[in-house]
Amino acid sequence: MQIIEGKPLSQLSTFGIGGEAAYFAVAQSTPELSELLKFATKQQLSFFILGKGSNCLFDDRGFDGLVILNQINFCEENGGIFHVGGGYSFSLLGSQTVRKGWSGLEFAAGIPGSVGGAVYMNAGANGVETAEALLEVEWITEEGTVQTFHRKDLDYGYRSSPFQKMKGAVSSAKFQLSRVEGIKKKQHEMIHYRKETQPYGEKSAGCVFRNPENGSAGALIEELGLKGVAVGDAMISEIHGNFIVNKGTARAQDVLDLVAKIRQRVKEVKGIDLEMEVKYIPYDISS
Ligand SMILES: Cc1cc2nc3c(=O)[nH]c(=O)nc-3n(C[C@H](O)[C@H](O)[C@H](O)COP(=O)(O)OP(=O)(O)OC[C@H]3O[C@@H](n4cnc5c(N)ncnc54)[C@H](O)[C@@H]3O)c2cc1C
Repeated sequence: MQIIEGKPLSQLSTFGIGGEAAYFAVAQSTPELSELLKFATKQQLSFFILGKGSNCLFDDRGFDGLVILNQINFCEENGGIFHVGGGYSFSLLGSQTVRKGWSGLEFAAGIPGSVGGAVYMNAGANGVETAEALLEVEWITEEGTVQTFHRKDLDYGYRSSPFQKMKGAVSSAKFQLSRVEGIKKKQHEMIHYRKETQPYGEKSAGCVFRNPENGSAGALIEELGLKGVAVGDAMISEIHGNFIVNKGTARAQDVLDLVAKIRQRVKEVKGIDLEMEVKYIPYDISS
């Protein structure tokens, strides 16, 4: 394993934003991930686990620590149970499982994250969430110890997982799927809907805000006439009110200023506090 210095994070995030990581390494197996976590902890270096970078906003100054890119990429099937590496494409998993006639991850096709990111974020779409098909998670602690968690012992919620309060990394996950007819058509419709309603192909990090209780953040933002509002090159998408798109050379600060503007307006008019879903990663995570 190689640890390199000065890796541009803009290349590793779908937003295309961010300065350099002080240190950067790729983990291609569970032992490598474990070694890197142990190394960072021993050296008292802050670390950040990166999947496909489709839900994060890196700081303009970058990250003062070690960014570990999860590229554990295997996928094994055993009678409807899929054991998948944390770095595997969640979208690919969604389309492969459906092609083989297995139901449970139809919604994943089109979500541009990794399996580890989906387990960590409890990614979801069309009223279905990652946790619903989850059976087991293999987790590496910051000391490098391997632990296995069963779904029944994990307290999942809307876009939240217990891993968000823990320090370590998802190295792999097992999903239990079932045989259901007609899922190819269902998945096709979901992908079509996604392409019609999201700024597909533009630089973004998906939905910026979590939906408030009994509501839709995107609908609120649209209702307030904020679509198209911009700070620098960061703009609220004209297609979906809950997406901020990078029109070219947006900085993290532009996105954060636009986020603050939206939150202030929604609070003033609707009395609702919008919470960010996109993870902002400050330069110094320990402060
Ligand atoms: C166009 C577009 C559409 C999207 N549509 C959806 C959607 O329909 N539904 C939805 O839920 N999301 C959606 N997203 C957001 C995003 O794809 C998901 O949140 C996805 O699960 C993030 O995975 P990732 O690997 O990219 O995570 P990253 O962005 O790399 O990381 C996000 C967070 O997860 C943590 N993390 C990542 N991998 C691991 C790991 N192995 N172990 C521990 N922590 C880890 C990171 O540290 C970080 O805190 C969309 C994004 C885009 C750009």
